[in-house]
Amino acid sequence: MRQSSTRREFLTQLGVGAIALTPNVWPPRSYERRATEAPRPVQTVLGPIDPAKLGFTLPHDHIFAGSAGILETWPALVGGRAAFRDRVVGKLTTMKAEGVDTIVDVTPSDIGRDIRFLEDVSRRSGVQIVACTGHWLNPSLTMAARTVDELADFFRLEIEHGIDGTDVKPGVIKVATDREGVTPFLEKALRAAARASKATGTSVTTHTYAVGRIGEKQAEIFEAEGLSPTSVCLGHSDETTDMDYLTGLARRGYTLGIDHNPQGLRPPAAGLPSWQQRATTVKQMIDAGFTDKLFLSNDWYFGVTIAGTGAMDVMDKLNPDGMLFVTRKTIPYLKQLGVTDAQIRAITVDNPRRFFSRA
Ligand SMILES: [Zn+2]
Repeated sequence: MRQSSTRREFLTQLGVGAIALTPNVWPPRSYERRATEAPRPVQTVLGPIDPAKLGFTLPHDHIFAGSAGILETWPALVGGRAAFRDRVVGKLTTMKAEGVDTIVDVTPSDIGRDIRFLEDVSRRSGVQIVACTGHWLNPSLTMAARTVDELADFFRLEIEHGIDGTDVKPGVIKVATDREGVTPFLEKALRAAARASKATGTSVTTHTYAVGRIGEKQAEIFEAEGLSPTSVCLGHSDETTDMDYLTGLARRGYTLGIDHNPQGLRPPAAGLPSWQQRATTVKQMIDAGFTDKLFLSNDWYFGVTIAGTGAMDVMDKLNPDGMLFVTRKTIPYLKQLGVTDAQIRAITVDNPRRFFSRA
């Protein structure tokens, strides 16, 4: 009797204890963010900041794109690390003077993210840099062999603990699909991004091939994983002028990256919209009521080793404004088309502030 009473008490205590503990222990607080919660700080390479301090933001550009670790192992490819750093700081300082406050660097580890380099150039130039986790198109043997949940764990590890042994955390998850569509590895990466985003509240930004309506394929996977479209920017959406495709995705809640603007300088033979056509698409999207679903960026680089030696010089010759193309060319042209200062501010300041501080 005494024994069974004790056992009952024990079980009761255990039950009460479990009920009391459950809400605190599982799911952890960070897993259950709600829209009603205050905006989170935005993670920059120099630490978290108040979202109101993001200012004018380029949400899809690259300080560098190469291969994993290459700035450490073969810096001579960019003229040496110190010389490259000085070139980057010079360009960032000019950008700061022309009104760019923040760059979101969407180079994940597999295409050469170097977090200490990003910290260094941000500190020296005063331009805020948001780094990313995630994965681009071509997996190494190691990444190809991982499961969806392992990839999601890797993204979360960086988001929750920091990148490459530092305490610098990424502010966005980058994933990609191109004209070949959702290959088996890329499907794993997209699903992993969705799971890591749902677990941490960190938004997702993509590389896609709008001409083949591949954004819709990405959307299918995100939605199958239960990720809200409001947490996703479908990048490079300006490679098409198909308003049916663009308004369809915006209506579902996706942000559209009008982020390949300098690509519009390529000769018409390339079959891509001119930069003026891209701006016209922006105006049409604004007129259709989607001002809050647009991002403007350049997808430019200061250094690139994924193409032949001299490729960066060829690109800079085509686009001497580099990462200032949007501010020097696209925005003045949008004003000519009748886009107001308030609408430009909404797209370049308010939209990034909301997107990168998503609760
Ligand atoms: Zn890019």
